[in-house]
Amino acid sequence: MSNLREVTLARRAVRIAHYNRFQKGIASQLRCIAKPIEGLRVIHINSTAHGGGVAELLESQVPFERALGISSHWFTIDAPPAFFKVTKRLHDLLQGGRNALGSRERKIYLDVGRAVGEDVRKAADAYRPDIIVLHDPQTLGAVHAAAERAPVIARLHGDLLTPNPRAAAFVEPFLEKADRIVVSSEDYMKRFPSIPRGRVEVVYPAIDPLVSKNALMGNAEARTLLRKFGVRETGPLIAQVSRFDPWKDPVGVIRAYRITKRAIPRLQLVLLGLFLAKDDPEAATVFSRAQKEAKGDPDIFLFADPKLARKVSDETMVRAVYAGSDVVIQKSIREGFGLTMTEAMWQGRPLVAGRTTGACIQIKNGRNGILVNSPEEAADAVIQLFHGPAKAKALGKAAHESVRRSFLMPRFVADNLRIYRTLRRKEK
Ligand code: UDP
Repeated sequence: MSNLREVTLARRAVRIAHYNRFQKGIASQLRCIAKPIEGLRVIHINSTAHGGGVAELLESQVPFERALGISSHWFTIDAPPAFFKVTKRLHDLLQGGRNALGSRERKIYLDVGRAVGEDVRKAADAYRPDIIVLHDPQTLGAVHAAAERAPVIARLHGDLLTPNPRAAAFVEPFLEKADRIVVSSEDYMKRFPSIPRGRVEVVYPAIDPLVSKNALMGNAEARTLLRKFGVRETGPLIAQVSRFDPWKDPVGVIRAYRITKRAIPRLQLVLLGLFLAKDDPEAATVFSRAQKEAKGDPDIFLFADPKLARKVSDETMVRAVYAGSDVVIQKSIREGFGLTMTEAMWQGRPLVAGRTTGACIQIKNGRNGILVNSPEEAADAVIQLFHGPAKAKALGKAAHESVRRSFLMPRFVADNLRIYRTLRRKEK
């Protein structure tokens, strides 16, 4: 069985000119950047086609690149559940988790990496890529095979500010094989001393304003929609949209809700994190922890069952939760970037976020969102926003504008094309 599967892009074809609406002249700028590398062949490889920020990015990035004359293809890896258990552990360790991978776990990682590598060679022989992009540690085990065939970009999306030293040392030799390491913050490569600074690039992720998830929705429409899921149509509502992951701190959100509810009695809370990502086997455990913390409170809605998205699509559900909320929370403890923050800000929502690197990239505290350090601080901020609707509105407006200026897909694609150009030059 092949370990690589090409993702069929069911999405609409991207019309670059449509993005001029958000940033004047961006379409022709993008075409100029793409012109010298027209026809360049790029293979992106990640671990899942659905669920999580990487899939979200690729779903827009790949068709966007194709619309600019780059021949981009997207593959995901097939691997046994035991492998994704190991890579989720590795992800947690790289974000600062304790302990280390055991020898059995390391063997599973290396064996699958080698098997995927075999298929990367075959795919490379069929597609003849000029560049191979390996996303996240799930695919890094194939770096040696990939590097035999083309320059490699290792794109790391997690928060690598304080990685577990043993996990960092395990990953570092793989990174050494890559021609470029692309991260979301300057600070993320500080604990990887053997990686030459000149090979590291920083690219902030972005959202696509033209996909249905990011279409702007009114509050009334959103609340009507959320009623289908049992949420009362009127009254105060707060929410967090995120996979059930320890670093997203759903339990902390519930604690913040409890404190807030003393001041705002009719408050409801939605935690939306459908089990969509095949590389996140930890979600069910974290969901149970949240359920326990919720103690059957009928005003807390924990949405995780993917079947819920049959009533309306996953995208519609996500944007209805943002648009229907008075305040959106992102109480993460670690966040590489955090597209959910970008999405909520784009919907013009006031956002209260844990002070993570990803949040600090996107939020200027008190201007386009509020940064907090604990459930208590989160509750204080939420209460302040309920008591000061003018301030809440101003924050939401500034949030939308900051996303428009800095975190939309055209800028993200341009940054990536510039990196492709430097690698292409090196090739010639
Ligand atoms: N998401 C989703 N359905 C959910 C929860 C999250 O589609 O039930 C999406 C969310 O809209 C965002 C992505 O998953 O686009 C999460 O990206 P982020 O960078 O915030 O976090 P990650 O999951 O990659 O750590």
